[in-house]
Amino acid sequence: MVKDKAIFRLVNAKRQILIVDDEQVNRELLGFITERDYDVLYASNGKEALEIMRREAKTLSLVLLDLKMPEMDGFEVLKVMKEDPDLSELPVLVLTSEESAEVECLHMGASDFIVKPFEQAEVVIARMERTIELYEDRKLILETEREDMTGLFTRNYFYSYAEKYDRFHEDQKMDAVAMNIDNFHLINELHGRLAGDDVLRHMGSYIEDLRDRTGCMACRVDADQFLVYMPSGKMDYGKLAEDVNQHFESFPDIKVKIRCGVYVDVDKTIEIERRFDRAIQAQNTVVDEYHSGVSYYDAEIHGEKLRQAQLLSEFDDALEQEQFVLYFQPKYNIEKEKPYLTSAEALVRWKHPVLGMISPGEFIPLFEQNGLIQKLDFYIWKKAIEYMASWKEKYGKEIALSVNISRMDLYNHNLIDYIENELDKNGVSGSKLYLEILESAYMDNSDQLIDVVGHMRTEGFKVEMDDFGTGYSSLAMLAQIPVDVIKLDMTFVKNLKSDERRETMISLIMDIAKHLNISVVAEGVEDKETLDFLKSVGCNTIQGFYFSRPLPEEEFVKKFTEE
Ligand code: C2E
Ligand code: CA
Ligand code: CA
Repeated sequence: MVKDKAIFRLVNAKRQILIVDDEQVNRELLGFITERDYDVLYASNGKEALEIMRREAKTLSLVLLDLKMPEMDGFEVLKVMKEDPDLSELPVLVLTSEESAEVECLHMGASDFIVKPFEQAEVVIARMERTIELYEDRKLILETEREDMTGLFTRNYFYSYAEKYDRFHEDQKMDAVAMNIDNFHLINELHGRLAGDDVLRHMGSYIEDLRDRTGCMACRVDADQFLVYMPSGKMDYGKLAEDVNQHFESFPDIKVKIRCGVYVDVDKTIEIERRFDRAIQAQNTVVDEYHSGVSYYDAEIHGEKLRQAQLLSEFDDALEQEQFVLYFQPKYNIEKEKPYLTSAEALVRWKHPVLGMISPGEFIPLFEQNGLIQKLDFYIWKKAIEYMASWKEKYGKEIALSVNISRMDLYNHNLIDYIENELDKNGVSGSKLYLEILESAYMDNSDQLIDVVGHMRTEGFKVEMDDFGTGYSSLAMLAQIPVDVIKLDMTFVKNLKSDERRETMISLIMDIAKHLNISVVAEGVEDKETLDFLKSVGCNTIQGFYFSRPLPEEEFVKKFTEE
């Protein structure tokens, strides 16, 4: 096993030093001695030196400082450095011709001194090396290096070590790798904590072995979470699982599988912790329970996840600040010569103050996953009812509205009471509110749904079966399901021209619907041919861009008042 100090010295990038001397000949001479081994910066006075130190504080390894200089001398530089937390740790070798100044300089924080005229080059270099080494070792030792269980680095030490490594290997591409033992808690529960500890130690020895093979650095952060910082191209991650299995082959009785997330070629401009967050994020997407899996961090998925997290966290404020607004898409009756507006569907949009208008296609599925949808839908229904009341009052028109009901809403026992209460409060008749329920919702739990929907209808609401044709209900089922309207899904209606089979299907649906006394709305009608066909098979209501897109309230009002 290579000692980490040694690994550190393997670093083949040159360390950076600063030479401060007012005499050009001295600068040149020292430069000549050191440039082969170091990246050298020069300053000709104290002020300039401090400027460079502040700028390069993170990468400087050593300062060679002349004591006698005009403007600001070496003593003063040392004094300023001592008081600046960024510079106080930086080692300084003082260049002096008076040995008497030695003690004073050491008091002031200098590490050592070099006597002018300069000794042999090797002696100068040796002193410099020793000073740098002492300084780096001291810094490393300051932090608790290793954790007891596995002997791997601790989290803090690991991060600072990785950062340091980056500083000297700017051009080296690196991968952040997160490894986690699948179902580790089960190992603890089934085999006991001691066995769990053994597994962790064995994992530690695997990673140590990996380090010797690849030159990676590693630590254990939580119970069974390991992080590895790996030079790119050193490891075929596809083989990692197999590799671990092999290592565990000799291990008694316990089957160990790992989940692994890899962020390849990390962006070194982001903090080291964030790089590993990404690797862990990838690791957490490994879901396959039966195989050890590796998953890669993907910037696109990451961006999407961030946006989703933002939308979720802002939901409550947005609701309170009325950022959710209703648009209305008119439905037209086409039975007569001249189509006329009969009702509209209320569709929500999120007017986000920063992100702009966000489509429900993005946030509705998100809110459905997180249960926020009920809160939003209750709000939308209430608003829709309030609009209906205000149109009645202002324009004397009772415009019917349909609202969307999410699957989850149907399991809320308050749903009907809530809507009835809002209708009563606003003096709106329930027969003017249509409830759109997805066809596929009927498949979840059809008996219960049939009950709920039956109840809605006895209370006087009209129920529409939304997106008909995308679910799996057979036409025969229509007879059992209590609905008033079916909405032919867009995909059904789109590009109808020249698709005879679909045209036949649609006329069949129309026949059955007529027989069952169910009316049919066709959604997503965009052109006249489709409209004409639908009319010819007896469809009486159309919703689609051909007549109108969803409109904000003022424009919708214009539509129905001008007719
Ligand atoms: P949906 O209920 O099927 O609503 C119809 C969608 O089709 C609307 O998209 C509408 O703008 C679009 N559309 C209408 N006619 C045409 C057309 O001729 N061509 C094309 N290409 N599209 C057309 P929108 O407003 O983006 O809504 C998407 C979905 O979001 C809705 O699909 C519905 O499932 C959901 N949604 C919208 N508002 C609400 C709401 O308040 N609550 C719930 N739970 N879901 C909602
Ligand atoms: Ca709908
Ligand atoms: Ca629909």
